[in-house]
Amino acid sequence: MVLEDYRHIIMECVSCGLCQSNCPIYKQTTLESNSAKDKMTILFALLRGWLDWSELTERLYECTTCRNCQTTCLSGLDIAGVVEAARAELVERGYGDPVSDKIAENLRTKSDM
Ligand code: SF4
Ligand code: SF4
Repeated sequence: MVLEDYRHIIMECVSCGLCQSNCPIYKQTTLESNSAKDKMTILFALLRGWLDWSELTERLYECTTCRNCQTTCLSGLDIAGVVEAARAELVERGYGDPVSDKIAENLRTKSDM
């Protein structure tokens, strides 16, 4: 799973902002960059080469993948799917979230207990 496979969804977002009011992370932080709308803008910039993967870890992990934005979006865009693909590629590139990495390691090593 790589982000490039989801390029069509990123390009389809029209930045209308309808999804913002339904995003629990945006409501909690009131940071535009945590909304689905701005995540698509950030990932568009990444695909254009204006941002680097190393700059995106915090923003991409600030999403519960609840899919509330998809139910609000008039185009039904699967933003959580895009975020999941971007996270997978972040990990492959060595920029995964350290806390998530630790939890995954603990699950692997302690699952026999
Ligand atoms: S999937 Fe992520 S961006 Fe969409 S509403 Fe849930 S927390 Fe917000
Ligand atoms: S994800 Fe959908 S609702 Fe949200 S800004 Fe993009 S087009 Fe609008």
